[in-house]
Amino acid sequence: MALTATRLLDNYIDGEWTPAGAATDVLDVTNPATGEALARVPLSGGADLDAAVRAARNALPEWRAVSAIARARKLFELRERLVARQEELARSVTTEMGKTLVDARAEVARMIEMVEAACAIPTTMQGRVLEDVSRNIDAETVRQPVGVCAAIVPFNFPAMVPFWFLPFAIACGNTFVLKPSEQVPLTQHLAFEELDALGLPPGVVNLVNGGREVVEGILDHPGIDAVSFVGSAPVARIVYERAAKAGKRVQALGGAKNHMVVMPDAVIDKTVEGIIGSAFGAAGQRCMAGSVVVTVGDAHEQLIPPLVEASRALRVGDGLEESSDVGPVISCAARDRVRDWISRGEASGARVVLDGRGASADPNGSYVGPTILDDVRPEMDIAKEEVFGPVLCVIRAPTLDEAIGVVNRSRFGNGTSIFTESGASVRRYRHEVQAGMVGVNIGVAAPVAFFPFSGWKDSFLGDLHAHGTDAVDFYTRKKTVTSRWFSSGQGSGTYFVER
Ligand code: NAD
Repeated sequence: MALTATRLLDNYIDGEWTPAGAATDVLDVTNPATGEALARVPLSGGADLDAAVRAARNALPEWRAVSAIARARKLFELRERLVARQEELARSVTTEMGKTLVDARAEVARMIEMVEAACAIPTTMQGRVLEDVSRNIDAETVRQPVGVCAAIVPFNFPAMVPFWFLPFAIACGNTFVLKPSEQVPLTQHLAFEELDALGLPPGVVNLVNGGREVVEGILDHPGIDAVSFVGSAPVARIVYERAAKAGKRVQALGGAKNHMVVMPDAVIDKTVEGIIGSAFGAAGQRCMAGSVVVTVGDAHEQLIPPLVEASRALRVGDGLEESSDVGPVISCAARDRVRDWISRGEASGARVVLDGRGASADPNGSYVGPTILDDVRPEMDIAKEEVFGPVLCVIRAPTLDEAIGVVNRSRFGNGTSIFTESGASVRRYRHEVQAGMVGVNIGVAAPVAFFPFSGWKDSFLGDLHAHGTDAVDFYTRKKTVTSRWFSSGQGSGTYFVER
């Protein structure tokens, strides 16, 4: 076993790297590929959070007074800084989270696109005006920042998910508090080094490491106006209810069980590629990972043999090695949970046609190999609950109607895909399916910075989705101003009487 790491991470509060309070508990951050301890992360307390919130509140007037164009220019600079450290960020993602470098590079590219989308704020934050809403009277809606905004994020996208929120929040003139996942705090430490170098007014961005205590502090703190959460469904519900009760604006993105429907006319080799990338990429630890294939009619016979064969050929190993196709899951506890899920699926009658329970690229790593369970029925727990590992269930449906029924009976509705060359099938599917993100011959309907992203049903609580145009709505309050000018020489106008 590796020696315990000595490096203890700091928080970033009020423009300074700041040690967490003295009584704080500490966790090891480990590389899931090797079990090596990388650093130690403090589980900060209420006083640390309070210092961050106070700094953020104090920074609000100064930051709001910075012009939208100047705020956008800070983001242009941030973009350049992140691009310069792109590879380092990707390696950090792989080292602390486990996904392959190819995957981590794609994640960091998406992170940077979020900054690029936020650079458009002088355009996207514009309000609306109607001249002569009444004679010589004008009405306009302007957008103003909400205040202090916080985000609580999961382990599976250490670079990208925090950036679904941070760039848009500060672009709109808000100040920000981030609570990274305590399992993967290192990548945001790097990102905050670059935020620090921007010379923003102290307190505009703050980072508080920690776990449940910091989360609960965020939900209750009267100095926080808006909360974004991404993580598992049960915690999303706690966050949504508690933050709303405290009067905050809140969006909570939760867990998933994503279905991929394969029609008999699908292009099988491309479909196999798409399904493999979706089910086994990031070792199945994406909220958009496809974890159930629903084969329609004789698609089953065409798809399953090549799918199993190609999945068996995937190489499990350390994500830093270019030869690895599937990295470890996040921890040994996660590995044991995923193995247990496979056994439960088997016990409930599913047939294990590819078994990853025995995979091990390193005795100290937390590996599970690609696993496929056939003959799964929709009522089995393995078909209904989120496993969050490289485990793919196969369900058969006689018709597209039945397949849509299987998908829509799930309590989750994060993402879904259909593989077919039929426009008519796609039209039916996209029209009827109950999910927030839909892929057509795309295995992972991944977030696109310039569009809103979220699921439906138990995968999301709130109304405004993450990034895209919804981010501007989430991070601004609308104010409508009605005005007339008596000395304009156009008469005074009669409000509400003469239109
Ligand atoms: P998690 O819910 O365990 O943790 C998410 C965050 O909540 C972390 O910052 C953690 O510190 C905090 N937290 C955990 N338990 C808490 C509790 N009891 N009270 C208060 N705070 C708590 O999620 P995770 O394991 O880090 O991430 C994986 C989950 O996130 C999966 O369910 C996945 O589907 C989901 N996810 C969803 C999306 C989406 O867009 N819908 C995106 C990424 C991940």
